Amino acid sequence: MTNQNDGDDVSMNERADIVVAGLGPVGAVLACLLGQQGLNVIALERSHEVYPLPRAAHFDHEIMRVFQSIGIADEVLKHAEPAGPYEFRNAKGELLMDAQLGERGVSGWAASYMFNQPGVERALRARLAAMANVSVRLGQAFTGFAEAGDHVDVTATGEDGSRTVIEARYLVGCDGARSAVRDAMGVGLDDYQFDEPWLVVDTIPDDPESVPRVNLQICDPARPTTCVRMGPGRHRWEFMLLPGEDPDRALDPDFVETLLEPWNARVEIERRAVYRFHGLVAKQWRDGRLLLAGDAAHQTPPFAGQGMCSGIRDAVNLAWKLGEIFRNGAEDALLETYQAEREPCTRSYIELAIHMGRLVCSLDPEVAAQRDAAMLAAAAAGTEIPLPQPCGPGREHGVFVPGDSAAGTIFPQFVAGDSVRLDDAIGPGTWLIDRKGGADTPGLRHLATSDRELAPFREAIEAWLDEQEAQAVLVRPDRYVFGTGTAGELAERWQGMLGLAQPGGVFAE
Ligand SMILES: Cc1cc2nc3c(=O)[nH]c(=O)nc-3n(C[C@H](O)[C@H](O)[C@H](O)COP(=O)(O)OP(=O)(O)OC[C@H]3O[C@@H](n4cnc5c(N)ncnc54)[C@H](O)[C@@H]3O)c2cc1C
Repeated sequence: MTNQNDGDDVSMNERADIVVAGLGPVGAVLACLLGQQGLNVIALERSHEVYPLPRAAHFDHEIMRVFQSIGIADEVLKHAEPAGPYEFRNAKGELLMDAQLGERGVSGWAASYMFNQPGVERALRARLAAMANVSVRLGQAFTGFAEAGDHVDVTATGEDGSRTVIEARYLVGCDGARSAVRDAMGVGLDDYQFDEPWLVVDTIPDDPESVPRVNLQICDPARPTTCVRMGPGRHRWEFMLLPGEDPDRALDPDFVETLLEPWNARVEIERRAVYRFHGLVAKQWRDGRLLLAGDAAHQTPPFAGQGMCSGIRDAVNLAWKLGEIFRNGAEDALLETYQAEREPCTRSYIELAIHMGRLVCSLDPEVAAQRDAAMLAAAAAGTEIPLPQPCGPGREHGVFVPGDSAAGTIFPQFVAGDSVRLDDAIGPGTWLIDRKGGADTPGLRHLATSDRELAPFREAIEAWLDEQEAQAVLVRPDRYVFGTGTAGELAERWQGMLGLAQPGGVFAE
C-alpha cells in the first residue's frame, strides 16, 4: 500500500482501536456497536449536519432489533411507523401485486417500518455523544492512509486544511457511494448495469387524509411513480425521469408541482433531489487493516428498501468480529469471513431490487401491457410473479456449523406479553442456550432454559430447540444461529473457528 500521508504540516498525536470514516447511518451504527463493547473509536465525518437530501424511507425488523441493541428503539419509533401494504398498480389503477410486508417479524418487531432517515441519524449521533470512548470528529474528512505493520496511519483533514494522523488497528470506510477509502484502496466496482434517473420529493402533508394510506408503485409507462409513507407526518413521491428530461429542470418547483397535481394531496414540499439508481458491488471489501461497509461497499436501487439495511447488516457483522479480536483475542483472519458472509446476502437484495425496478421502470407501452397481463393473470390465479428471494448470510466460508440447517438463520427474538423482549432479558454477546446449562466460558454466555431471566421465554425457546431436535443452540452476537448440537461441541467449534484458546474442558460431557 502506498503511503499517502506525505507533507509536513501534520500532527501525529492520536491513537484509536478503530477509525470509522463517514458517519452516515452505517458508520454511526458501527461506531455505536464498537463503543458499546468498550473499544476506542474515532469517527470522522466531513460534514457537520446529517445528510440533508431525501434517502431511505424503509427498514426491516432486523434493523429495528439493531436499534434496540443500541438503546434507541424508543427514539427511533418517534420517526418510524409499521409499514402498511406495498401495492404495485398499473396505469388503470388495477392491483398487479401486493408485496406483503407481513406483520410481526422474527426479530420481535413489526416486519417493516417506514421512517424519516434524518431523525434516526440524529438519534444515533446522540447515542454516540454519550460514549466516552467514541470521539466524533465533525468537519474532519478522511484523506489518506499508510499501512505500517501492526497498524494503519489514517490522515484526517479539517476544514482549515490542518491534518491529523491517527494510529489505528483498523480503518473502516463507511463514507458512502463515492468512498474516498475505497478509492484509496484501489478497489473497483461490479456493475449490474442498472442506471435509471428518478426525482425524489419528500413532503409534509398539511392534511394527512389527502395522501394515500398504502405504499404504491405505479407501473405507468407514461411516468413510473412511487408514493410511500415515511413515518409520522411525512410522505414521499418518486418520479422516474423520461428520456431527454433534464435533471436540473426536474428540480424546478413548477415541474414538481405539475407532477404532484394529479394526486390532489395537500402537502408542503420539504426537500427534493434527483438520483441515478444503481446496482454496484465493490470487488473487495477488505484489504488487511482496511475495510469497507455500507454504500462504500455496495449500492442498490431503492425498490426493495434495503440499501441502508444491507449497510447496517455489514456494520453488525463487522462490529462483533472486531469485538472478538479486541476483547477475546480472536485471530485477525476472522475478518476474512466478513465479505464471504455479507456479499451473497447483499447481492440477493440488489437482484430483488433490480427485478422490481425492471417491473416498474418499463416505458414501452407494449412491454408494459404484456407485464400487466401476466401479473393480473397471476393475481387472478392466486399466485404472484416469482421474485428473486433474498438470502441470509453466506454460510460456505462463514462462521457457522457446516451442514446445520438452522445455522445462518435469525434466532427469533421472543416477546413475552406486549413488550418484554428476549434480547433485553439476556443482554449482548454470544449466547449458548442449553436445556441443561453450565458454567460460562470466556466470551460465551452459557444459559439454561430454566434460568430465571429466560422464564418468560422458556416455552418458546424449548419449542424452538424441539423443532431443531437440539440440546443447545449457540447464537452469535449478531443474533444469527451459529449452530445447534450439544453445548460442549458448540463451544469447542466456536472457539476453534474464531481462533480462540480451546475451553478447558468446562463443557466435557
Ligand atoms: C432515493 C433513495 C431512497 C432510498 N431508500 C432506501 C430505503 O427505503 N431503505 C434503505 O434501507 N435504503 C434506502 N436507500 C439507501 C440508503 O439511503 C443508503 O444505502 C444509506 O444512506 C447508506 O448509508 P452509508 O452510511 O453507507 O452512507 P451515507 O449515508 O452516504 O453516509 C456516508 C457519510 O460519509 C461522509 N463522508 C463522505 N466522504 C467522507 C470522507 N472522505 N471523510 C469523512 N466522511 C466522509 C458523508 O458526509 C456521509 O455522512 C435509499 C437511497 C436513495 C437515494
